[in-house]
Formats: sequence, C-alpha cells, structure tokens
Amino acid sequence: RLIAGETASPNEENIDRALRPTMLADYVGQQAVREQLHIFIEAAKRRGDPLDHLLLFGPPGLGKTTLAHIVAHEMGVNLRQTSGPVLERPGDLAAILTNLEKNDVLFIDEIHRLSPVVEEILYPALEDYQIDIMIGEGPAARSIKIDLPPFTLIGATTRAGSLTNPLRARFGIVNQLQFYTTEELVTIVRRSARLLGVAIDPEGAREVACRSRGTPRVANRLLRRVRDYAEVKHDGTITQEVANRALTMLDVDPAGLDMIDRKFLLTILEKFSGGPVGIENLAAAVGEDRDTLEDVVEPYLIQQGFVQRTPRGRMATMLAWEHFRMPPPGAEAM
Ligand code: ADP
Repeated sequence: RLIAGETASPNEENIDRALRPTMLADYVGQQAVREQLHIFIEAAKRRGDPLDHLLLFGPPGLGKTTLAHIVAHEMGVNLRQTSGPVLERPGDLAAILTNLEKNDVLFIDEIHRLSPVVEEILYPALEDYQIDIMIGEGPAARSIKIDLPPFTLIGATTRAGSLTNPLRARFGIVNQLQFYTTEELVTIVRRSARLLGVAIDPEGAREVACRSRGTPRVANRLLRRVRDYAEVKHDGTITQEVANRALTMLDVDPAGLDMIDRKFLLTILEKFSGGPVGIENLAAAVGEDRDTLEDVVEPYLIQQGFVQRTPRGRMATMLAWEHFRMPPPGAEAM
C-alpha cells in the first residue's frame, strides 16, 4: 500500500526486494502459516514431489509475494512470476507453463483477475499437469495436449471470496495472512534498519512499527521516509521524537491512520451520521474506487475496531467517534 499521493518508484521496488527475507526462518510473524508450510515443504522435498498448490490471501503488503519466493527457495526450485491481469490470452499462460522445470513454483499475483478463458487452461494444468491448446482456426483448428512437468501454483489475492469455486477448489493449501502485531513490526523495522544502515533506537523502532497499519510494506516505507527526516533535520539517528515528528509531517496520525483512512472514517461520521452506509455511496463520497476501499482501506479499520460491516452497510464504532473527538449523534441529549 502506498502512502497517499506517493507512487512506488523503480528504486523503491528495488529496496523492497532487498529487504525481502529469503528463508522461512527469517519470515517474521504469521506463525500458523509458517509452521504449516515448514511441514508441507519438508514432506514434499523428502518425496521429491512439488508442494501442493497454495493460495494466499490478505491485504496488500502483508508478505504474499515474499512467501512465494521463500517457498521456491526452500524447495530449491525456480520461481516464475506473473499476474492475473497480465495473462490476457490462453497462449500467454501456455507459454509460461510449458517453460517450467520439474517442481518449479509459478506465482500468479491478483489471481482473482484471471480471464475465464485463461482460467480454463489452468484447471487441467493444476490437476493433471496437462494443457489442451487449440491451434489453427476454423475447420482446420485442432486441439493438442501438452504434458507439463509437475509444478506448484502459488496464487495471491486480496480476497479469497472473488475466486471462482472451481479455481479455489484446486488449491490443496489455503492460507490467510493476518495483520502483524506491533512487536512483529518492531522486529521487521529493526532488521530493515540494519540492512539499510540506518541508526534507530528501540523507541524509534516502536514508534514506526505501531504507526504502520499492521503492514510490513508500510513499515519499510515509513522507515525510509523517517530516515530522510532524521538525516536532514537531526543527526541521522531515529529516536521516538524524530519518528513522531516525521510521521506527523507525513500525515500519519498517532493511531497509524493515513489520509485515506481518515477521509473514509470522517465521511461516515460527518456525511452519514456514523452510518450505516452502503459501500457504493461511500466510495462515491470518498472519491476512491470501491475495490480499493474494500481490499486496502477497510480491512485494517475493521481489524482495529473503527468500522463494522453490517447487512445494511458500514457503521462507525464508538472508537471512531472518540478518535476524532466528535460526539456521536444523540450524545447531546444525554
Ligand atoms: P504482498 O505480496 O502481500 O503485497 P510483499 O510480499 O510484497 O507483500 O511484502 C512487502 C514487503 O514487506 C517485502 O518487500 C518485505 O520486505 C516485507 N515483508 C513482508 N512480509 C514480511 C515478513 N513476514 N517478515 C519480514 N518482512 C516482510
């Protein structure tokens, strides 16, 4: 997730990559997922089989791509990476599949955005390591079967609910990634600071961690911005005070909410009296698309207890009113 108004430059992507742990043991948090994968990877390796197909879901920046790379690394195989929207035609996927080597990992990001014709090709590939492709057109067209080496598909999606049932059913392992605790983010921030050669004291690391929306990618990005501030405005060391000033300047509030989070909550509070309000109305009023609100903004606000999803729409909680120091409707009468 980007901080409001910021886009990831190629340089930032390189840094992201440099900070990515490569071994399961260095992957912080997500304990249940890590324990499971450790066992499944060991078992597959002993048998010489590929790992079962794996579906990872959860909001952006929680470590799905990182985990896919780790699985390939631990299995000792190559990773091929693509994404749902990039695979426009069946041939695009067929080209990748036929280039795989035994037990390789194919990582498809945003797998819920595969087109139906491409998805069709995937079914027999996943089940029988075979694809049927049509060559030629019209009366001369014929279908040929191609055998594939055994491989592992790792699919990543922000929401498991938008996968078709037949696709979901073909994953042997399904894992949801959770938001990280402050403690876990402290570990990540300190590790990243060490790798980037940034001086940060424990309270500084905690301040960055607890304002990172439970998300490692945000933590790493904030760390880099806070470092800039520390270098220009101070002696380069990130202390709690330096972190606090820098984050305030970046419009990250004390609870870690950024501009879009606050706009989302304030819209519900001010324009819809706290809700309930339907997601479409809310998207129009906030000026963001519905998918961004549902996949990126809302999950953290719900997890933190600022918003509830009800059958009639989104509702702000007491915590939201208190956060903005606003009286809930009817409070004056009491
Ligand atoms: P996603 O694919 O879910 O959007 P990524 O795997 O790209 O997320 O993770 C974003 C960044 O966060 C990575 O570059 C990595 O440095 C960091 N990261 C993610 N998960 C972890 C983790 N469990 N431990 C340490 N760093 C992590």
